[in-house]
Order: sequence, then C-alpha cells, then structure tokens
Amino acid sequence: MRYTRPSFYDMFSCIGSECRHNCCIGWEIDVDDDTAELYASVEGTLGKELREKISTEGERYFCMQPDGRCPFLNEQNLCRVILTLGEDALCDICALHPRFFNSYPGREEAGLGLCCEEAVRLLLTAPEGFCLIEEQDGEQAAEDEWTEYLAAIRKKLLAALSNESKPFSDRYMDCCAIMQSPALEFDPKSWVPFYRSLEQMDRAWGDALERLTAFELPVRWIDRLDMARYGRLFSCFLYRHFLTAKDGAEVKTRFAFCALSTAMIAALDTADPSQADEHIRLYSAEIEYSDENVERICTKLRERFDFDGGI
Ligand code: SF4
Repeated sequence: MRYTRPSFYDMFSCIGSECRHNCCIGWEIDVDDDTAELYASVEGTLGKELREKISTEGERYFCMQPDGRCPFLNEQNLCRVILTLGEDALCDICALHPRFFNSYPGREEAGLGLCCEEAVRLLLTAPEGFCLIEEQDGEQAAEDEWTEYLAAIRKKLLAALSNESKPFSDRYMDCCAIMQSPALEFDPKSWVPFYRSLEQMDRAWGDALERLTAFELPVRWIDRLDMARYGRLFSCFLYRHFLTAKDGAEVKTRFAFCALSTAMIAALDTADPSQADEHIRLYSAEIEYSDENVERICTKLRERFDFDGGI
C-alpha cells in the first residue's frame, strides 16, 4: 500500500481553547458504534449525561445545545469527555478531525481539512511549501490504472504550482496546459449570487460574500496575488479533490472546482485582507465540507464550460 500525506500533516495538534472557531460548536457530530457501546458502560453522572445527550433517533449524534455548542464542551471550551475519560474515549470523528482520508486501490491519502484554523496556519507556514510525503508499506498492492494516471497528472500540476518564481497567473496557465484545457477564466463577483444560493451555516460567510459584492476588484487583480499563498491553496484543493474523479469529464470539473475555489478565496481576500486566513477556513467549512454544495458548484461549472473529451 502506498501512503501519502502533506509534509505538515504530522505537525497538527489541536489548539483547543485557543481556537476561535471550535469545531465542537455548530456541527452535528455522529457517534460511531464502538464509542456508543463504550459510552453505554460509563457510570456516574457523566455516563448518565452521555446516554441522555446522544440522539438515538436514526443516526446517533451528540444533541447540540440551542447555542450550537456540543453539550460536553465546558466554559473553557475544553471537552469534558477527554477531561474525565481521556482521549481514547473520543468518538472517531472527534478523534480524527480535521484529518481526512481518501482511499483508492493500492493507495491511501491523508490530509488536514481547511475548516480548521490550525490546519490553515500549517498549510500557509510550512517552510517547504505544499510537499507530499509518500511511503510504501509491505508488498506493493495492485494499483488502479486510472488512479495512478490521475496521480501522475496531479504530480505535474503540483510541480507547476510550486514554481514560486512565476506569477500565480502564469502557473495557472501552466496547469491548464497540463490539463489540455483552454484557460478557464472565472469572474468571482459574477459567482457571488450563486454562492449565496447555496446552503449556508455561518452568517460570517454571507457577510464575506456581501463585502465582495460591494468591492470593485482592481484591473488585473489576479496578477497582484501573493504567489506562494494561492499556489499552496490551489495545491491543497487539488490534493483532496482531483483523484476522486471517475472519468475524463469529471477530472476537468474537479480541476475547475479547485481553480474556482482558489479564485473565490483570492477575491474575498482582495476585498478584505484583514480576514484573509479566515476566508480559507470559512470557504472550507461552508463549501468543501458540504457534499451538496460541492456537487451544486460542479453542476454549475459543467453548465458553463465544455468538459467533454478526455485528458
Ligand atoms: S477547529 Fe481545529 S484547532 Fe479548533 S478545536 Fe477543532 S481541531 Fe482544534
């Protein structure tokens, strides 16, 4: 089996009460079967509370409080399950977040989701940029030709994006050439009404889109972008989404989704540089973590561009 992860993956450690956007607020967290079994055996006040505050209707999940907080988050934003029972008692989602895993035949890829501000910080500050570490374990498992073909293209895309001596727009053109695609141009402001029509969780996301609507993007604004920052961001999106495509048209759609996502965040940053890192976190939480929103954007991209033909 081949294992891949970004170089900064191993440096992740939750910053807990220091985090401004605690992931224990605003998300409905599912409880896996093994953990539910463990919680059923916990005694005392916490055990009683665990049984009372986990919904058993349909999926099992922690019942959010009216203010959106997990019922086990204390006033210092620390988890009472960890404080009382230790980290081993966390359910899978809490133990693994913000890590994600994509599995393919013969290949397993891990990464850090950008809905976490600490993951965003690590991406933007990694001294070596966006670099992947690949390791082989045991005998080489049978690999899927399609996935390996896509992995080879992705490698070329990431190499093109890592050339920080070139302006971001030139690196983007190099990527389009690798994709055998005409340059896909995005006008982020024209996409705002569509983004506003998507499922929305946090008012701050709507406010950020509103600021972009009211802002006049300067002429050739894309040429003024910080080359390292958006190269890393585009690379991170490609790493997570590119290999998930099932055919040639979908590869082009995934590529376009990653390019549009980078352009939207770059435009939001240009409209309000004071919220730059927060735009990445918000975009990931609102869009990347909603399968429905990702699918609606991909459908819209297919309507706007011709993705027929292989790569
Ligand atoms: S968002 Fe990240 S840093 Fe913040 S509490 Fe969750 S895992 Fe920790």
